[in-house]
Amino acid sequence: MHTPLCRHATGEPTAYAAHAVKIGLKEIGFSDHSPMRADDFDNWRMRFDQLAEYVEKVQEARRDFPQLPIRLGLEVDYLPGLEPWIEELTALHPWDYLMGSVHYVSGNWDVDNPFRREEWTKREPATIWAEYFQRLAQAAGSGLFDIIGHADLPKKFGCVPPANCRAMYLPFLEAARAKDVAVELNTAGLRKDCREIYPSLEILRAACAHGIAITFGSDSHAPEEVGLNFAEALAWARQAGFTHSRAFEQRKFKTLPLPAAST
Ligand SMILES: [Zn+2]
Ligand SMILES: [Zn+2]
Repeated sequence: MHTPLCRHATGEPTAYAAHAVKIGLKEIGFSDHSPMRADDFDNWRMRFDQLAEYVEKVQEARRDFPQLPIRLGLEVDYLPGLEPWIEELTALHPWDYLMGSVHYVSGNWDVDNPFRREEWTKREPATIWAEYFQRLAQAAGSGLFDIIGHADLPKKFGCVPPANCRAMYLPFLEAARAKDVAVELNTAGLRKDCREIYPSLEILRAACAHGIAITFGSDSHAPEEVGLNFAEALAWARQAGFTHSRAFEQRKFKTLPLPAAST
């Protein structure tokens, strides 16, 4: 979940926590977009000098809702070569989890940026997908992350992966398995043009067959999005074959059984 520090989310963490309590969630986590070394890298993340403020906002939510476990994480952009920077960020605060996400391919194109949709017309979709999954495999294989976020993000605007793309994403799953990185079921896709949870059922089934763990995320950018469509996410997880999910504290995971299916 996000905070206004990333410049495209609304509501303070304490309002997200209030909504979580209202709908009966047992635990939540914040993982706002991590800062880059250069603050002008793009315009949809906190500045580096706001990192302490971010931590303080999450701590404020913890003080306001002591009955609710609130985890402190970061959604960290993975780009090849950023590893030393990510290691620096990792050491700065007692993170509960780090979610590695790929938004950028082809150098500096953020594939999910609505202001840069025209880039989709300049390339073959298959090329974009191949590059995306390749970078995702690097992210999972880096050993820097506990979770990989929204593993098929390029479908956001409706450009789904080509048929028979299994060979493209298998190296990602193999890397996730090797480093024991969990895959996030992210319900935000249901609110986008693709109208589908990230990642697809096909990828989730393959992840399950590889023995990869999952987490649940709403990718909330507003308090009312907290826990949105979690019933669908749960059904999707079960359909893919999962029986458990992971939760994180101080970068250690616990394995929780999925709630019983309601009839
Ligand atoms: Zn965001
Ligand atoms: Zn993201």
